[in-house]
Amino acid sequence: MASAPPVVPGKNAGRAAIRCLITAGPTREYLDPVRFLSNASSGRMGFSLAERAVALGWEVDLVAGPVTLECPRGVRIQRVVSAADMLAAVEPLFQRCDILFMVAAVADYRPAERAPEKLKKTRERLTVSMVRTPDILKRLAAARRDQIVVGFAAETQNLEDYAAEKLAAKGLDWIVANDISRPGLGMEVANNEIVLMSSAGARFPFGPAPKSEVADFILSQVRASVDQRQAALRR
Ligand code: C5P
Repeated sequence: MASAPPVVPGKNAGRAAIRCLITAGPTREYLDPVRFLSNASSGRMGFSLAERAVALGWEVDLVAGPVTLECPRGVRIQRVVSAADMLAAVEPLFQRCDILFMVAAVADYRPAERAPEKLKKTRERLTVSMVRTPDILKRLAAARRDQIVVGFAAETQNLEDYAAEKLAAKGLDWIVANDISRPGLGMEVANNEIVLMSSAGARFPFGPAPKSEVADFILSQVRASVDQRQAALRR
């Protein structure tokens, strides 16, 4: 892998490394003090990216939903619970990063209300009204200056079509598409197979491979686009 990047006059002047912000894991949306809606994301893909980015000499902020993983050495971590918490944590960090990797499996909906006390099972049927959570990635991408923005698309069908739609709809530079319908790959497990797609129409399939190797691959491809952008800023 490439060694730590040089200080680039202009945009990066005065600091030694690319700064990246990574989100990882699921979010939890509470219904009452003990029950929540969430998903099976383990956080491994995001934590692998954080670990490998530090190995490249990058500065890494990691915002993680509830996961059992230990924070990799050299990474600054903030642990959060809900989508709203994640948004509050990433907004200020996004202002001072060069690249955002939005790996977290953010819940798309939350219960409209959170009961202050534990719900009792007095009813045969319980209907929960849900409301949309903020789309953190879309919001940040719309507010960016010159950050590179990378999203993830975990799909069970029409992988590349859905990923391409998200890339355009959320205004991203890159999207990492992965098929979560195949046993042994994707969420909760150690391996992944991806297609990395760019807004310029590039398409790079990779894997199946351990998530650390997938992380190295994503970082090397995205790094090349950071170099291009920095070279353009110097001109
Ligand atoms: O729209 P969808 O959830 O499939 O998009 C996935 C991408 O959007 C991921 O990068 C995920 O982190 C991000 N996302 C988000 N906020 C949400 C839902 C998803 O930032 N509420």
